[in-house]
Amino acid sequence: MDWLPVKGRIDGLDSGPVTYKSRGLGRELGLGNLYISFNGCWPEIGARSATGSFKDLEAAPTLRMRKDLGNSSILVVASAGNTARAFAQAASVAGQPVALVVPKSAIKNLWITVEKGPLTIVGVEGDYFDAIQVAEKISSLKGFSTEGGARNVARRDGMGTVVLDATLALGKLPQHYFQAVGSGTGGIAAWEASMRLIDDGRFGKALPRLHLAQSLPNAPIYYSWMGCSGEFRPGATFDEVLFNRRPPYGMPGGVSDALKATCGDVYGISSQEAEEAKRLFESSEGIDILNAPAVAVAALASAVRSGAIGRSDVVLLNITGGGLARLHEIMAKNCLEADIVVSRPEDVINFMEGIP
Ligand SMILES: *Cc1c(COP(=O)(O)O)cnc(C)c1O
Repeated sequence: MDWLPVKGRIDGLDSGPVTYKSRGLGRELGLGNLYISFNGCWPEIGARSATGSFKDLEAAPTLRMRKDLGNSSILVVASAGNTARAFAQAASVAGQPVALVVPKSAIKNLWITVEKGPLTIVGVEGDYFDAIQVAEKISSLKGFSTEGGARNVARRDGMGTVVLDATLALGKLPQHYFQAVGSGTGGIAAWEASMRLIDDGRFGKALPRLHLAQSLPNAPIYYSWMGCSGEFRPGATFDEVLFNRRPPYGMPGGVSDALKATCGDVYGISSQEAEEAKRLFESSEGIDILNAPAVAVAALASAVRSGAIGRSDVVLLNITGGGLARLHEIMAKNCLEADIVVSRPEDVINFMEGIP
């Protein structure tokens, strides 16, 4: 909490990552010091993410920082999945206004576990990119604003708590950090948190190496890093959550800088590898996970096979979402519906201008 850019917490939004030492997966892979940061619902180990993914870590500080700054405009968020759920839940708990812009086909995945708060849900005919265009139109209207994506420090610092929590649990920085990425913001956040821990002086001097994983063939960060080109096939990846066509890669302080500074690497993972990794994780650790983190598990298996990491290295694996089966056992699902469905950005103006 002390290291987040906020003045306090939001009651009801205080779940964080849980770090534990793996037994099952570590044994299967032959790793003696594998630590898992679990970001999902698994009450038995103390993990209580409200919507089942580490997007919860971004939503709460983002809303709290806006409150601290006295920003009462309506926050506009475009998302096709976990981000929409996290912001819907956080906005409802905090009572702060948010407009979610979601492809119409993704609205069926939009649920929260509390009563709906001051949310406006805009369905868009089309895909995530059409939704982004509608969101840009709405944010240009008076009384609305965006959160900034990778440029939002509250978002990055929220995700950075994964490394902070693990380092406190371990007493030192891990040597390796594995995460499945779409935008790569989680990788940037892990790097930034590690630099602060090194500045602190108590936890070691070496930056953890970033091992970022993407699902083939929709893997723009992987292609950029390898200096090759690949053909995207929307709908063809193991996990659509991870497909972001405009990642913050080359900008100063972006994904490329984070990889270079940490001697990192990027892994391109096939659907088959990810499927096998998902089965291996679930059977060896005893909890269900989302498809995205299975891509990170596959990257870890690949790094062990290639010798990129040593058998006794201290490894942190970020399981970015999971425990949905447990979550639905203990929490009722409140499915959300669109307040308006539009097909072009212009169509949304009149409706939205009536809200603030
Ligand atoms: C968003 C997301 C990721 C990737 O996050 P980045 O912003 O690319 O770091 C990974 N896993 C899950 C479950 C996600 O929702």
